[in-house]
Amino acid sequence: LSANIEKLNGYLSRFKNTGIMNRIAGEDCAGSAGVFQSISPVDKSVVCDVARGDVSDVDAAAKAAADAFPAWRDMPALERKKILLKVADAIEARAEEIALCECWDTGQTLRFMSKAALRGAENFRYFADQVTASRDGQHLQSPTLMNVTTRKPIGPVGVITPWNTPFMLSTWKIAPALAAGCTVVHKPAEDSPLTARLLVEIAEEAGLPPGVLNTVNGYGHDAGKRLTEHPAIKAIAFVGESRTGSIITKQGADTLKRMHLELGGKNPVIVFDDADLDRALDAVIFMIYSINGERCTSSSRLLIQDTIREEFETKLVERVNNIKVGHPLDPVTEIGPIVTEEHYNKVTSYFDIAKEDGATVAAGGVKVGDEGYFVRPTLFTNANNKMRIAQEEIFGPVLTSIPFSTEEEALEMANDTQYGLTGYVWTNDLTRALRFTDSLEAGMIWVNSENVRHLPTPFGGVKASGIGRDGGDWSFEFYMEQKHIGFAT
Ligand code: NAD
Repeated sequence: LSANIEKLNGYLSRFKNTGIMNRIAGEDCAGSAGVFQSISPVDKSVVCDVARGDVSDVDAAAKAAADAFPAWRDMPALERKKILLKVADAIEARAEEIALCECWDTGQTLRFMSKAALRGAENFRYFADQVTASRDGQHLQSPTLMNVTTRKPIGPVGVITPWNTPFMLSTWKIAPALAAGCTVVHKPAEDSPLTARLLVEIAEEAGLPPGVLNTVNGYGHDAGKRLTEHPAIKAIAFVGESRTGSIITKQGADTLKRMHLELGGKNPVIVFDDADLDRALDAVIFMIYSINGERCTSSSRLLIQDTIREEFETKLVERVNNIKVGHPLDPVTEIGPIVTEEHYNKVTSYFDIAKEDGATVAAGGVKVGDEGYFVRPTLFTNANNKMRIAQEEIFGPVLTSIPFSTEEEALEMANDTQYGLTGYVWTNDLTRALRFTDSLEAGMIWVNSENVRHLPTPFGGVKASGIGRDGGDWSFEFYMEQKHIGFAT
């Protein structure tokens, strides 16, 4: 731990001196609205000042992205691919710095964030390799026409990201946008600005031309809002809360903005009594207590068949009570602090809400110390699906366990939520797995597995969990316009 803290302090010293500036057209720029402070959830200390951008900064960044667009769009695909591969290598070379900064900024633990930094590199590498595929036209025959369908990058785009695993999520949006030939204005979450700064710096050092990726820090209601309204910005890739997704859809209406929304979730994991229960137990724990439970795809609702409920919950309580909460840079820590005071207050408010609703706090349900925003991992039992703890996205290390007796009942409860991002089904009955997954309302479902991201597959949710998909070719569909040309033959 002390070696990691020493390294972190080395990496942070430059930010302590200069703060985090916006990056527009390859230049460091102060924020027109002054600065705001980034606070570490580990000990509530100020990490550094951050440039607070507003309308004029977004306008400057959008102009930079528009100016840089024609040259980036027209750059031969293989040259663009070379640059993006260099960005991937450069991310890998600074993976430790990214991981340590991300942990300090967000409270996420090193054991997970060291992998997230490498996944950021993988996002660049994967979409670099797809660069040529994104341009392939389709040649369709008809009696009188030779039909050519091709794709063009849509133009400068806005990317708005949240504070949970911010580096990985930013690369997940920015890499395909750049690969498609779009230029980008990125508005990172105000609560986690560090690694967005590292990303733009790394990308430029790796050869990304100035203005192709611009970063404007600031709050959602001014910098973010302006980005969604700016006429030069052709599309918004947004990751965040469902409520915000709805607001920015309205904000983008006047300029007919194309929107891709990755929003909240209250994802069920359904465990039938014929499942491999040891593996299911591991996965249930991993999918809610890793990454501080601050994960859109976390399975925060356990639907457990009543025949195995008692045994499963008993084992669950024992495991949850053994989870290590602590300093995020300590390699043995499994859960770090909650990202901000506001979010900590939200997560801990559910400890009382659960009791008021009549549920049992079977594990956790308490704050840990007051130096930072730490909580014990929490399990609620004796719950039903109508309770707030079963319906609302808590977005912390908090699991609600609900019993069911029949498959029909499990399906009804699984679907009885406004969300539909992911679902996890544990059963050894293949026919049931097929039947159940076919009716489960979710964009992504895993059977007998935790969430395993495979980049070519579509990622996204239904209902209040989002609109649109990315991953593989779906990303290019979003960042590009389809164009059809018919030649008379
Ligand atoms: P949030 O919606 O509060 O903020 C996300 C981003 O939107 C921030 O950068 C914020 O500044 C910006 N923003 C806020 N108001 C805006 C406005 N009016 N106009 C433009 N931009 C605005 O979300 P959060 O609290 O940072 O993140 C947590 C949420 O993100 C959770 O609901 C989680 O489920 C969701 N999430 C979803 C996915 C997914 O893939 N579906 C992935 C990660 C997180």
